[in-house]
Amino acid sequence: MICPGGAPWGRQSNLFLKPAFLYARIKKMSEFKIIKRSKKSRARLGLLKTKHGVIETPCLVPVATQAVIKTLTSEEVKESKSRILICNTYYLHLKPGEDLVKSAGGLHKFMNWSGPLMTDSGGFQVFSLGFGRDYGTGKILKQRSKADDKISLGQQPKLLKITRDGVYFRSFLDGRKIFLGPRESIKIQEKLGADIIFAFDECTSPVAGYQYTKKSLEKTHHWAVKCLEARNNKSGQALFGIVQGGRFKDLRIESAKFISSLGFDGFGIGGEFGDDKKKMLAMLNWVVKELPEEKPRHLLGIGYLQDIPRIIERGVDLFDCNVPTHYARRGIAFVSSGKLDLAKTRFLKDKAPLDGKCSCFVCRNYKRNYISHLIRAREITALKLLTFHNLYFFNSFVEKIRERIKNGRL
Ligand SMILES: [Zn+2]
Repeated sequence: MICPGGAPWGRQSNLFLKPAFLYARIKKMSEFKIIKRSKKSRARLGLLKTKHGVIETPCLVPVATQAVIKTLTSEEVKESKSRILICNTYYLHLKPGEDLVKSAGGLHKFMNWSGPLMTDSGGFQVFSLGFGRDYGTGKILKQRSKADDKISLGQQPKLLKITRDGVYFRSFLDGRKIFLGPRESIKIQEKLGADIIFAFDECTSPVAGYQYTKKSLEKTHHWAVKCLEARNNKSGQALFGIVQGGRFKDLRIESAKFISSLGFDGFGIGGEFGDDKKKMLAMLNWVVKELPEEKPRHLLGIGYLQDIPRIIERGVDLFDCNVPTHYARRGIAFVSSGKLDLAKTRFLKDKAPLDGKCSCFVCRNYKRNYISHLIRAREITALKLLTFHNLYFFNSFVEKIRERIKNGRL
């Protein structure tokens, strides 16, 4: 018996009902409307409606790990044309803790951000604090391993323990043991209160072998079902399932089919590819055509500027990316002609704005010489100016892509 408004399925009824039917009873937590489909590619223009506003897609999702875009206020983030942010479940769980955020009125009130928010599930930290750390492969680090099958079946990372029920971490703050499983992740995300939350998964390493990845995928799928069971349907949050499967075509297709069958509100496409862009694009080709057309797709954690049109052409609606903010804090500005390293001496004599075509307040008011001086003098205002410009530049770039889809040019 399915109880309206309460827990949607009882333990016994699970035995007799197929998952698709079980989960079909969940109310729509967000609405996604496709307003134009490209005739040239899988790109589409959409509107994603959440409790905190409507987002035009394709859309960049800047990364606010600790409930902040480092160096900017929420007002400035909005001014940078950012419309939706993603915060990090694992780090907010460690500090300040989801109970504190909840008692502050949830993430939106806590950080004074009235627009839509996402939280990831902590699944990426299973990779980044686990095999990612052991083998030195990260989203930003461009270290490509020579051997592709370093991680074999049954192997555990040095600092984590991954079990069928979840993952044991050690807090980097005080060394205490932390357990994160599907239920824990969902309950933390419900207290944080973002509009869109993600299922708990294991993001696998690009150096994981086939057998390891296959076993890991079974866990991710098991956790996906557990996340749906754990979710509170009254939270008003959209829950996105995550497709994994590493670099293996059959596993990716199997994952996309299985996760699609469960009735999630949208889909995250996860995985770590190091700098192997070709593989990442091939993976998108395999996965996207298996996902339901009418639901939003979010590519987790990518986004060099040159990748953005390629992933959008392959049918990605949302993508989070820490490139603009991460590089800004290292003195790098993204401009129409490429990248500028403002710490270089030659910029001290350069009286041009960061980008002559950019209309952000930094480019309207400041010159390269001044920002270069601030970087070299280690003044934190430099990081703020670069973060603002980079976000505005990336958001404007995506805005132009939406325009190209609208005009039938992509
Ligand atoms: Zn600018």
